[in-house]
Amino acid sequence: MTKDYYKILDISDFSTTDEIKNAYRKLARKWHPDVAGNTPDVIQRFKEINEAYEILSDRAKKTDYDKARKFYNYSSYNSQKQTKSYDKNTTNPNFKETYSSNKEQKKSSFWDEIFKSYTNNAKSEEIKTPKKGEDIYSDVEISVFEAVSGTTKVINMLQTQICPKCGGRKFVNGTQCSFCNGKGETSVYKRFKVKIPAGIKNLSKIRLAEEGEKGANGGKNGDLYLTIHIRETQNYKTDGLNILKNIQVTPDIAVLGGEITVSTLIGNVALKISPNTKNGQKIRLAGCGIKQDKKIGDMIVTVEIQIPQNLTDEEIDLYRKLRQLNNRGVV
Ligand SMILES: [Zn+2]
Repeated sequence: MTKDYYKILDISDFSTTDEIKNAYRKLARKWHPDVAGNTPDVIQRFKEINEAYEILSDRAKKTDYDKARKFYNYSSYNSQKQTKSYDKNTTNPNFKETYSSNKEQKKSSFWDEIFKSYTNNAKSEEIKTPKKGEDIYSDVEISVFEAVSGTTKVINMLQTQICPKCGGRKFVNGTQCSFCNGKGETSVYKRFKVKIPAGIKNLSKIRLAEEGEKGANGGKNGDLYLTIHIRETQNYKTDGLNILKNIQVTPDIAVLGGEITVSTLIGNVALKISPNTKNGQKIRLAGCGIKQDKKIGDMIVTVEIQIPQNLTDEEIDLYRKLRQLNNRGVV
């Protein structure tokens, strides 16, 4: 007999649906290639176990199969009898062999036909069961400016694909596939151009549909989820299209006024500090903010009067003089 599904599942002819299921589960666990090893023998065994269950768990298929099996056993019994009776009548062993192998061939082809229709069904159903690919999660870092204006980022993602050589079967002509080392899949870098919309918030997720791991059996690919991380910057904050920045000025500039250099998106800009500028005072640099479409924001700087460190003796003397002049001995 080509395949005896009862034997494969190690069950009796009178097993109940539950018994068939339990036997299948036990064997499928035991012979899963991930557990028992990726050898051709194991894979073959695992396939047979699945085929057997495919047929025996389906009432209609099982009924047909049981009939065919019964018939096969019967014809096998008869042919044995025939061969035996033929044996008695012949003295030519070669002829006997030819006869018997012909008979065997006939029997197998009959059986194979029936069997083929089952396994084709089983296989096509297996193929028809679509499995969605795994989702992939990744991170993208952008600057605050990119977050406000929107940007396009190019990212490279490592993706798993079905091995192009063995088509995921792990073996080529019975030997382990050399391309994927028998894994059935390979990893490739895929380049994505991701458009990040203007105004995106920190930790927002961008979903790229079906750019995740490949689906199996015609199933959809998984999705690719990108978490946006807006890079923390100590120097800048944003408020809409405006950029907020603190600038440090020394007491003499705050008192006397002066010019300092401020770095902005459009380069360094000379900023005039008026005399008597107070700590916390805000100065607007028009047009130095974020560009978005046809609009452009401003840069708003907040003055921080910084106490100079590491003063020279001369400077300390000057501060002393200032104190005497202002008569600020006691506050
Ligand atoms: Zn391969």
